Amino acid sequence: MAATDLTELASPAGAPWTNWVGNQTSTPGYAAAPRSEEEVVALVRQAAERGIGVRVAGAGHSFTPVVQTDGLHLDLSAMRGVVATDPGRRRATALAGTRIHDFYEPLWEAGLALRNQGDIDTQHVAGAVATSTHGSGTRFTSLSGAVRRMRIVTASGEVLDVGEDRPDLLHAAQTSVGMLGVVTQLELAVTEAYRLQQQVGLWSWDDVMEQWDDLVATHRHFGMFWLPSEESGALYNLDGHGEPMADRCYVKIYDEVGPDVPDSDVEGRRVDRCYRIFPMVYDANFHELEYFVPLERGPEALQAMRRLMLARLPESVYPLEVRTVGADEAWLSPQHRQATTVISVSGAPGTDYWDYLRSVDALLADFGARPHWGKLHFLTRDRLHALYPRADDFTALRRELDPAGMFLNDHLRPLFG
Ligand SMILES: Cc1cc2nc3c(=O)[nH]c(=O)nc-3n(C[C@H](O)[C@H](O)[C@H](O)COP(=O)(O)OP(=O)(O)OC[C@H]3O[C@@H](n4cnc5c(N)ncnc54)[C@H](O)[C@@H]3O)c2cc1C
Repeated sequence: MAATDLTELASPAGAPWTNWVGNQTSTPGYAAAPRSEEEVVALVRQAAERGIGVRVAGAGHSFTPVVQTDGLHLDLSAMRGVVATDPGRRRATALAGTRIHDFYEPLWEAGLALRNQGDIDTQHVAGAVATSTHGSGTRFTSLSGAVRRMRIVTASGEVLDVGEDRPDLLHAAQTSVGMLGVVTQLELAVTEAYRLQQQVGLWSWDDVMEQWDDLVATHRHFGMFWLPSEESGALYNLDGHGEPMADRCYVKIYDEVGPDVPDSDVEGRRVDRCYRIFPMVYDANFHELEYFVPLERGPEALQAMRRLMLARLPESVYPLEVRTVGADEAWLSPQHRQATTVISVSGAPGTDYWDYLRSVDALLADFGARPHWGKLHFLTRDRLHALYPRADDFTALRRELDPAGMFLNDHLRPLFG
């Protein structure tokens, strides 16, 4: 197809697109970076007329082939910024390409903050929402569960304004992996600004397991990395301060503190604004799989994972990250109507880690695990339908909004086509 066949807003793509960690590439036919919703509408209409597929890239922090297209690749980086805050209703509205860290200052100035956060803050908000990006703590849903309104440019070029008055549509759109259309704007439920005390320490496996229920129930955030070997911590930049790390747990506990507790930067016990506590620093040196088992089955699944990983060293050298997430209503959310224990492991880039990851998949499948849409998984259509009670409804809605499947790609079509 000649370059002039598509609007002047798009250009024939140059260099192939690559995700952050470098395990996914794509050579789109066209690429565009719209600056407004009107431009998105024009691009989607032209792509639809010509039967070209469309996928949006966020910050490229997914490990799965969720962005790839040989059609039109959209980059919404220019559609960025918090456009409204409402302290009374505790809401914040942002353009789709707003990075998570772009929320910090505008919300804090309005006396607000994101309810919870994951390990990094460089994702586009629409990209993070598309895959149910989460932090830790059963009192909090993923970011998808916090979405209260979205504007989506659908395959017909219409703008769908989805809010709480249409709960089914909202719950379908909250976790859509980009399959319902191009999200241009989102309103999130947020919370009052809060400060956190962070406690970090190396614990024995048995101590964590014995106190599991208490750790999960008592703290705002409890998460840990179990380190199968002495080398494991350094792979995720976890500092053991010279202590032995093999077969120990790097435990992170965050609790809210009042204004009487001053900020502090004492090693292992920091106090600061929430958004300065949450983010970690990762190198692009791992390919991650993350599965979600029902919350109460967490300890049993973790014991089984530890046995498997010790038996599979050295390929299982990356830390086992463990978190919890509260239930939500999003149809494709791993937390759909079910709080979860989150279990993640990684393989080393450049090695054949697939057999190891398949053994993790097989083990966690027995616990009814649902995968993270942005992290490596082995989901089939049969498993999808067994695990997600609203998968049929999502597929029916997707077909209604996008009969030609222009927002599907080779990864998503076998699951949702
Ligand atoms: C180092 C690292 C740490 C991470 N930590 C966490 C964590 O703590 N918790 C967690 O849950 N996940 C985590 N992730 C995974 C990450 O949050 C998700 O994969 C997230 O989706 C990435 O957001 P992104 O902006 O990079 O989107 P991308 O990966 O670029 O895209 C993700 C999906 O969103 C779609 N999309 C993006 N923008 C739009 C739009 N405007 N309209 C429609 N669809 C759109 C894309 O098409 C794609 O399907 C981590 C990933 C990395 C690499």
